[in-house]
Amino acid sequence: MSDVETLPWDEQLALDDQAFRAQLAYLKQRSPFYRDKLAHTDGHATLADIATLPLTDKRELRATTTPENPIGAHLAADPHDVVRIYSTSGTTGTPSYIPLTQSDLDNWVTGSARSYAASGIARGQRIVSTYNAGPFVAGAALASFDRLGLTHIPVGTGNTERLIKAIELLRPDAAVLTPSYAASLTERADLAGSSVRRVLVAGEPGGGEPAFRAALEEGWGAKVTEAMGIGDIGVSLWGECHHQTGMHLGARGFVHAELIDPESERAMPMTDGATGELVLTHLKHRAAPLLRFRTRDHVEVRTSPCPCGRTGPRIRCVGRTDDMLIVRGVNVFPSAVREVVSAFSPDVSGHILVRPPTNGVKQDPPLPVTVELARGVQAHANLADRIRDRLRNALVVRTRIELVPWGTLQRSEYKSKLVDH
Ligand SMILES: [Zn+2]
Repeated sequence: MSDVETLPWDEQLALDDQAFRAQLAYLKQRSPFYRDKLAHTDGHATLADIATLPLTDKRELRATTTPENPIGAHLAADPHDVVRIYSTSGTTGTPSYIPLTQSDLDNWVTGSARSYAASGIARGQRIVSTYNAGPFVAGAALASFDRLGLTHIPVGTGNTERLIKAIELLRPDAAVLTPSYAASLTERADLAGSSVRRVLVAGEPGGGEPAFRAALEEGWGAKVTEAMGIGDIGVSLWGECHHQTGMHLGARGFVHAELIDPESERAMPMTDGATGELVLTHLKHRAAPLLRFRTRDHVEVRTSPCPCGRTGPRIRCVGRTDDMLIVRGVNVFPSAVREVVSAFSPDVSGHILVRPPTNGVKQDPPLPVTVELARGVQAHANLADRIRDRLRNALVVRTRIELVPWGTLQRSEYKSKLVDH
């Protein structure tokens, strides 16, 4: 672990304040997007009063793209200094582009290497990866494995046979994959006796949900820790240590984290147990830096000391704000529904699908939830009732549970769909 990671948090914030002021000056000087956006604000804000500055929404950035500048008006670096352009998968058909200078890329890899190293994986060990990096930022995460001195075995997505073979023959110490894929593999192969002792999950929420994690750990006979990045800000910004107390900010010094209430957009203190939307600000970025970027990730904050010695607030991702449903005034995350249902293992497989009857966020109860039974389990009389009651107690939501046989719901080699809109 680097000394940086154990620096007292107030000392980190003092350093971040210096970086933030320089970043703000850079934005005003170099970023057409922020020159406009910050025109009527105090250009000399400190990190302590960052909440007085406007938030940035992904849609605002997209609205500034033109045929001449497909990246957007937040491009701040000289095009000659851009060494990499990643893209997002872009659900609307046109991808968003994410440019990086050499120093941006170095900082991404440094932060990502810290996040993955927190899991305990060490130089000389073997790691098998299942991401098709292609155009996506995951490529930079894979570069962090080189930085850590690991033996990296890339097998990509969509080739389970090759993955199982690699685990069997090359005997890796660790595997990195989405929690959905990690879960589906335990149904297809006996992995508990394999060489894999650490499963590093990323790409979607779930790895930190206690019941879901327990099932994964049992299936793999391995420790499961999670990591998380946000494409526009950085890859694997956060990573959990083996104490599994929430994700540490591996990208500390490069990125500043805040919490807001997604409805009122008001800043909330990062106190222990606080939940809200994660908002991130670049501190040392050059190519297309972002200020107070709304991640749409709903997180829970933890501030109690972690036995590993890493300082600063930790987070656990509860779900995407975009996936959130409001059932008679109560916020419901599909991943939280899965977490409650997973506790009914070994009767259930852990696969669920929430089926909101109407379009939009607001729903009337009961909320229909399809729950898949475990292999060989028959639907028995009161299981659905018990799941329904537990959901009502835990999440204050009234549901209608439909039990379906094992294998009914779709498995994913990448991210799971938990809501059928
Ligand atoms: Zn820790």
